[in-house]
Amino acid sequence: MTELNLILMGPPGAGKGTQAERLVDDFDLPYYATGDILRAERQNGSELGRKVEEYLQKGDLVPDELIIEEVVMPRIDSPEAEDGFLLDGFPRTQRQAEALDAAMGRLRRELTAVLSIEVPDEEIVRRLSGRRICTKKGHVYHVEFDPPKHEGFCDQDGSPLVQRDDDKPETVQHRLDVFHSQTKTLLPYYEKRGLLRSFDGTRPPEEVHGHIRATLATLKLEDEL
Ligand code: ADP
Ligand code: ADP
Repeated sequence: MTELNLILMGPPGAGKGTQAERLVDDFDLPYYATGDILRAERQNGSELGRKVEEYLQKGDLVPDELIIEEVVMPRIDSPEAEDGFLLDGFPRTQRQAEALDAAMGRLRRELTAVLSIEVPDEEIVRRLSGRRICTKKGHVYHVEFDPPKHEGFCDQDGSPLVQRDDDKPETVQHRLDVFHSQTKTLLPYYEKRGLLRSFDGTRPPEEVHGHIRATLATLKLEDEL
């Protein structure tokens, strides 16, 4: 397989970012997490950051047009992504998925796999209420399930850990509703094309990682036959 064009999917808090940190190390892929990119824009006070602020705060999806044209397309069409990419948090709507297909077609490339991490809603609420992220690079922790070595600080870069605004309980349920109503329908869309690979996200992070790696190794073997 010459390219790995991967998508991580799943409800908020499924463990996409947690797995991405590991997959980026394994495969040396450029990693595009649309939520991280938008939060960084908001922090910089850029025009894009101002446009998306209210959506982020409420846990609503930002308009398709913005995320497609200003966030994702310039990145997958850039030299660093020529040999592959790992997308996290995109696509989240049918229109975004179709825009991605069209772009891949234009670039004469194909998606390799959609990695879906499955976790029931009750567990999501537990995870997001304890999630902490580092202020520098967005590295992910959990106060109970994955605590840092020094409370309140990132193991990787020492920056302070914070709770995301949208991880407060009142916004979490809304984000889950948005996932169920707008994003989940993309799973059958990819399944029909034979791209979907599903993982039990309730297993410990190392185990989920092992399953994803094994699946990617199998895909690679099939490709070489
Ligand atoms: P989580 O890690 O909980 O799955 P993200 O960090 O991916 O959440 O996204 C945070 C917020 O950023 C979303 O609630 C939404 O407002 C916005 N966002 C991220 N990706 C997209 C997208 N593809 N389309 C629309 N909005 C998005
Ligand atoms: P997403 O990117 O899908 O929103 P994260 O990777 O940020 O999800 O994980 C959400 C929270 O759940 C974090 O606090 C993380 O430490 C924790 N977490 C991630 N994977 C697991 C797992 N397999 N078991 C228990 N907790 C997990």
